[in-house]
Amino acid sequence: MSQRDPLLEAIARYPAPLIMTVVGLVGMPLTLWLFAPERAPARPETPVVISASATPTATPTGTPVAAIAAATQDIALALPEQSPAEALIVDAPASADPATSAEPAAAELLEDASATVPASTTETLSAPGSANSAPPPAQSFVPAPGTHYIALIIDDIGYVDDLGARAVALPDDVTFAVLPHTPHGVTLAQAAHDNGKEVMLHAPMSNLGAMPLGPGGLTPQLTREEFVQTLTTALDAVPHLQGLNNHMGSELTAQEEPMRWVMETLQGRDLYFVDSYTTASSVAGRIAREQNIPTLTRNVFLDNVQTAEDIDREFQRLLALAREKGFATGIGHPYAATLDYLEKTLPTLAALNIELIPVSQMIALQQQATGAW
Ligand SMILES: [Zn+2]
Repeated sequence: MSQRDPLLEAIARYPAPLIMTVVGLVGMPLTLWLFAPERAPARPETPVVISASATPTATPTGTPVAAIAAATQDIALALPEQSPAEALIVDAPASADPATSAEPAAAELLEDASATVPASTTETLSAPGSANSAPPPAQSFVPAPGTHYIALIIDDIGYVDDLGARAVALPDDVTFAVLPHTPHGVTLAQAAHDNGKEVMLHAPMSNLGAMPLGPGGLTPQLTREEFVQTLTTALDAVPHLQGLNNHMGSELTAQEEPMRWVMETLQGRDLYFVDSYTTASSVAGRIAREQNIPTLTRNVFLDNVQTAEDIDREFQRLLALAREKGFATGIGHPYAATLDYLEKTLPTLAALNIELIPVSQMIALQQQATGAW
């Protein structure tokens, strides 16, 4: 009778503990390895969805397209409440008249005052971008030696007939930014084009001050489909467009995703983008460059304060920037004071070796000068 090992005998009699031990020693690391996060099958990203079905008619834009779409779809993006600090950003300057804030031009005035373009804005254009590929070739522009260049955009064209007509009759190559779906927008865009001027869409974008956008407003509450549809409808509503700039937008231009949707829409139409730069938090210009959309950023607002003295001071600042950098872009509005000033001043620029060029040429000039949009 052979001697039996007590341990083997015990294992033979009670195999379960051994099996469990083996399973535990081998199975646990195997399980951890198999279900490690990087080995787990990828799941489709689930967006944070808040059902909007309870309030189907509430849309910030008030456009029929947005209202219908919002009634049938969920809102995929919820924004946090605006903080008091953010609200301060768009507080009206002391000189602004709150009684007129519902007017588009006045509303923008409140917002325009909130963003001061850093002196380095034009340098940012020459910074190495994160573009996926080289920018497409711009139209060529040959600057004359000793000449400094400015571009001048008149925003908010469309609501006021007589001042709008006066604006499009300005001499030289002023560029006009026309609000979509406005009473006189199409007529004035056509008149500007007939007068040899460049026309862009002045796309209303949401602001931190909750100021009304008017028709065609773009907001973060829109789904991608609603957003692109609203912008496409606005682009189709104004003739002779060569580009787009933002009306207000201190909220929207700070958000990457909607700015990508803007640029994707422009890309299919071969249009440029001008960042009106109504907030220092704007990412619009960067997103435009990343997506190879020809772009520039506004340097000076001429008429945040509508007196001849204030407009002259800002215009001189524009000229000084142009002399320093070679080029600079200003934005004004169809105010009587602004038009008075420009009618008087634009004819004097040639004697100062300053040339006013349309925005498309300014973009080409900047690209040639800096090697980037
Ligand atoms: Zn505007």
